[in-house]
Amino acid sequence: MPVGTLASVKGVSQDVLEDLGVEILLSNTYHLFLRPGVETVRRMGGLHRFMSWDCAILTDSGGFQVFSLTDLRKVSEEGVAFRSHLDGSSHFLSPEKAMEAQIGLGADIIMAFDECTEYPADAARARASMELTVRWAERSKNYFEEHKHEVPWALKESAELRSAGRSRAAVPTRSEATQALFGIVQGGMDPELRRESADRTIDIGFPGYAIGGLSVGEPRELTREIVLSTLEHLPSDQPRYLMGVGTPDEIAQYAQSGVDMMDCVLPTRAARHGLLFTSEGKVSIKQARYAQDENALDPICDCRVCQRYSRAYLRHLYASNELLAQVLNTVHNLHFYLATMRTVRAWIRAGHAPAAGASQM
Ligand SMILES: [Zn+2]
Repeated sequence: MPVGTLASVKGVSQDVLEDLGVEILLSNTYHLFLRPGVETVRRMGGLHRFMSWDCAILTDSGGFQVFSLTDLRKVSEEGVAFRSHLDGSSHFLSPEKAMEAQIGLGADIIMAFDECTEYPADAARARASMELTVRWAERSKNYFEEHKHEVPWALKESAELRSAGRSRAAVPTRSEATQALFGIVQGGMDPELRRESADRTIDIGFPGYAIGGLSVGEPRELTREIVLSTLEHLPSDQPRYLMGVGTPDEIAQYAQSGVDMMDCVLPTRAARHGLLFTSEGKVSIKQARYAQDENALDPICDCRVCQRYSRAYLRHLYASNELLAQVLNTVHNLHFYLATMRTVRAWIRAGHAPAAGASQM
């Protein structure tokens, strides 16, 4: 899932995302909550209509971003008080508030409000944090079940029917179609705590489960170990979502291990810094060695950038700080990530894993 933090994948318009074959993208509740505000998006009919995007959208709960505001937040049983990174204004997010916000934004998949345990954390702290996440998962689900029909597309449909001259009585005020709320497994870097978190989250009951609290500064090998051990405890017939991962190599490996969904800012953020993923490895397009390189960025890539432009031109755009550099770099990196996942899906469909070392990075 490409990341479109503020209802926009930075630098790439929705028609290009469609051409690239993006089927689902992620938006961040924390950022939209602050700007333009949930109420604005809700009145516009939800994220889909607001950003003109017919494919799927997933929103996170805001928890991860709020916990990243280390000096600006205070956690209690009730929720998290925090100050906006934009203007210092005070806000509060709780499981109920996070559900209200995500229902208002109207994504297809929304996430339970969890506490992302910091790394490193001692055993007592990791347990207390995991327990808090379980209690918050229960509160998230309770609120969701009571309010799940308040999705904004029902409101918009009603308004359209009214403007089309239909009587008020005929206007639906509740939508039959609801969102899918996923639970999140925490438990720090302790496989046993992870197992307990998975069991207790499954007991609450969700249509999909995420593995959270990873890629928070731990060694990559440890991430892998925790992911693999946690996957064993999650139902294989429901979506399993690994949050905030990873490099092209990693996403291929995790998908083969049973992960169904991943999101990462890496392809888009790296692109804006001139770091490009190719079949021949990483290319830092700012380097002078590409100044007169007439070759395509990636000789076997069939994206619109590689089909049309040379490394020399891309290097020139980047060195000149042209806006187009960010656009083209992002388009290529997104294509590379999506192509990686298409390859993995083909492997899975064919019923066999690729030979070791066949990954693209
Ligand atoms: Zn390309």
